[in-house]
Amino acid sequence: RRQREQSEAVSDCVTADGVRVEVFANLGKGAAEAAEAVGLGAEGCGVLRTEFLFMDRETPPSEDEQFAAYQGIADALAGRPFIIRTFDIGADKPVPYLHFPPEDNPQLGLRGVRTASVWPELLTTQLKAAARVKGQVRIMLPMITAPHEIRAIRTVLAGMGASLPLGAMVETPSAGLLADQLVADADFLSIGTNDLTQYVLAIDRGHRALSGQLDALHPAVLRLIARASDAANAVHKSAAVCGGLAADLVAAPILIGLGISELSVPPPVVPRLKAAIRRLNSDACRTAARAALELETPEAVRALVKANFVEED
Ligand code: PEP
Ligand code: MG
Repeated sequence: RRQREQSEAVSDCVTADGVRVEVFANLGKGAAEAAEAVGLGAEGCGVLRTEFLFMDRETPPSEDEQFAAYQGIADALAGRPFIIRTFDIGADKPVPYLHFPPEDNPQLGLRGVRTASVWPELLTTQLKAAARVKGQVRIMLPMITAPHEIRAIRTVLAGMGASLPLGAMVETPSAGLLADQLVADADFLSIGTNDLTQYVLAIDRGHRALSGQLDALHPAVLRLIARASDAANAVHKSAAVCGGLAADLVAAPILIGLGISELSVPPPVVPRLKAAIRRLNSDACRTAARAALELETPEAVRALVKANFVEED
């Protein structure tokens, strides 16, 4: 039995009717975490939250320090895809050595690629470190709102002689609405449902009293996910989900039904998610996803999934 579990853990993940879905890990610690994720069956890293290298210190990490950290993770991933997200500093991820202007609403302020455009040398250093890594490295940009932001960073990469696949996170309503434009410039899309839900529903992701209403299965969020997925699939590029919704097993049939081909989740969730995907039928997923887009509340979407898919955990 253990042998079967081990071989299931590392083998490709396909639905019961043979549709391939890649299951990646969200990482944000270092090489040991990456090795653990691979052991649990992760097929790559869908987002390295690089903020861990920038936080809790007095100065930013040097190029060499970053290179060493990224290379260690790449080695642990042993040739699997490795998506390095450029730093998403600001809002819920502050650092002491950058002097931010006073902000009334930090979640609507300087963060992600906006922070990078205020401190461009910080971004150049990070890109140089990432470009030196031997492995299947891809770069991903947080808080994109329009295609020119991707082009600007592709120009920076080209200026340093690096040609790495460059993807955009879809985590602002603007990115969801302009997804068809983004895929002209991005090599892939990855949907960050934590921020996308915050911005679509206008509820701070850290708001305690309103957290019960912060459900990424809200049909409004699903419509933007559908839009991003359709835009990517139309040009044969991949659309992933790397936000918390990917780790919600109730969401798996809906996301797969919407055409999402890659799910990235915290390492401990990888085995359960792979097992759940293997039980799904893609036609049933598509039917449920189409119906979910017409519902009015996340509760109704959850009820629809529960009524149509048996849980066998
Ligand atoms: C997201 O917003 O869903 C996401 C994956 O990024 P983070 O949670 O790091 O903001
Ligand atoms: Mg985010």
